[in-house]
Order: sequence, then C-alpha cells, then structure tokens
Amino acid sequence: MSGDRINVELVRYTPEPVETAGRAAGICWDKEEKEEYGAFIRRVVKKGHESVIEHVSFTFRIEGVSRALTHQLVRHRIASYSQRSQRYVDEGEFEYVTPPNVEENEEARKLFVDFMEESKELYDRLRGMGIRKQDARFVLPNACESKIIVTMNARSLRNFFSLRMARGAQWEIRELAARMFDLVHDVAPELFEDLKEAADLARKD
Ligand SMILES: Cc1cc2nc3c(=O)[nH]c(=O)nc-3n(C[C@H](O)[C@H](O)[C@H](O)COP(=O)(O)OP(=O)(O)OC[C@H]3O[C@@H](n4cnc5c(N)ncnc54)[C@H](O)[C@@H]3O)c2cc1C
Repeated sequence: MSGDRINVELVRYTPEPVETAGRAAGICWDKEEKEEYGAFIRRVVKKGHESVIEHVSFTFRIEGVSRALTHQLVRHRIASYSQRSQRYVDEGEFEYVTPPNVEENEEARKLFVDFMEESKELYDRLRGMGIRKQDARFVLPNACESKIIVTMNARSLRNFFSLRMARGAQWEIRELAARMFDLVHDVAPELFEDLKEAADLARKD
C-alpha cells in the first residue's frame, strides 16, 4: 500500500515547550520571567535566533514507512535514531510500501508485487541455506517496511520540515513530515506556525 500505511506518534516532548524556549531566549536579555511567552518566542524565531529552541525536543515513533524513506530521514544528522534492525530481526515476512504511481498502474503493480514475493522467497531460501540475516538482507528491497524512533530538537525539526515538506521532496517523506508537523503544531504552535502553509500544501499535492 502507499503512504496511508504511515503511522506516526508523538511519544514524548519537552514539557511546556514554548515556555522552555522562551526562558532560554529571556536569559539572553536578562528577561527570564515573561508573561506572554507565545508572542515573545514567535518574534525570536522570526529573527532567526534559533539556538534558543534547541532546548525543546520531540520524540516520534514512526511505523509503516519504507526503507527508501528511512534512508532519507537518517541523513538529518542533528537527531537521534533507533531503527528496527535487518541484522537482528528476521525479515522473511516483510511488509512493503507500494508507491501510488505503481499502485495505480495495473501492469506495474503486478510486476512490483511479483518482485516482492520473489524477494521474500529468495531471502527465505538463503536463510534456509544457513546464510545469516545480516547477509540475506542484501536481497531485500527499498520498499521493505521499517520502524524507527526519532528525536529531534525544534530547530532541527524546522529544518527537516522546510526541506521535506517542500514540493521537491519525495512523496512519502513529504507525507510523513506533514504528519509530524501536525503533531508538534498541536502542542507548540508558536514554534512552527510559519511552516503551516508548507504543511497544507504537502497534504494537497
Ligand atoms: C529534495 C532533496 C533531495 C536530496 N537529494 C539528495 C541526493 O541526491 N543525494 C544526497 O546525498 N543527498 C540528498 N539529499 C539530502 C540532503 O543533501 C541533506 O543531507 C539532508 O536533507 C539533510 O539536511 P541537512 O544537512 O540540512 O540536515 P542535518 O544533517 O540535520 O543538518 C542540519 C544543519 O546543520 C548544518 N550542518 C550539519 N552538518 C554540517 C556539516 N558537516 N558542515 C556544515 N554544516 C553542517 C547545516 O546547516 C544543516 O542544514 C536531498 C535532500 C532533499 C530535501
């Protein structure tokens, strides 16, 4: 199936994210106690004084995405990751993500599904011959589903959103980024609201 398999959960985040960033910004100007952190932090973010939002981080659990997606995701270096291992977990029964373009084309879909089945069969045959998981996995496709836990601070997350919700981003990671955006925008709108238009566009086209 396509991107509708994506399952993303905001597992944890810094308590009182806007106040936390606001207090960090406040210490720079010796104005730590502010009543209206929301407006304050909006101005700070707009000015590009983004180091103060590094004090706020978000942890996501992501499932139902392809290895093609996670390879792009882990290129974002300012983050922490824990991913299901193809070295330690048997992938004989792997689930997979089908790109919408392939899904819509009957002939392409058939070729795609046949290849997924062949790949599973070959993996199992290699495993049956005593080949270790870490070597049998060389025949697994990029479409193979994965699970990953990601922690990013708000600054890195804003960079991730800017790059991955943009029109030029690949469809699956664009969809994931828009879903992650919704989750963090709900709990800390002041840190992300200037990116809302990009998120809306990512959902539309
Ligand atoms: C549309 C698109 C297409 C892409 N295509 C390709 C491709 O074909 N091939 C490919 O290899 N990658 C590709 N990438 C990945 C891209 O080059 C980045 O590696 C990825 O988006 C991570 O972005 P980042 O470096 O900004 O994030 P992070 O790694 O999280 O870094 C955050 C920021 O920290 C700073 N930073 C981090 N490390 C360094 C450093 N070593 N030196 C200087 N500053 C640093 C930069 O300001 C950076 O923006 C593509 C990305 C996009 C969005």
